[in-house]
Amino acid sequence: MAVPKRKTSPSKRNMRRSHDALAPQAFQECPNCGELKRPHNLCTACGHYNGREIVSVEA
Ligand SMILES: [Zn+2]
Repeated sequence: MAVPKRKTSPSKRNMRRSHDALAPQAFQECPNCGELKRPHNLCTACGHYNGREIVSVEA
């Protein structure tokens, strides 16, 4: 079995992990109801997108 010749140094390990951080999730306010929603996505609270109702949400 192939085995690494040397132990990975803390510097190299941390360089590898520099891309592992989670990006913060994007949210914006729904212009219709003010609820937070994902950008470019239908509002899950009121069913509106781009100024009109796409799906009716039962109350
Ligand atoms: Zn909404």
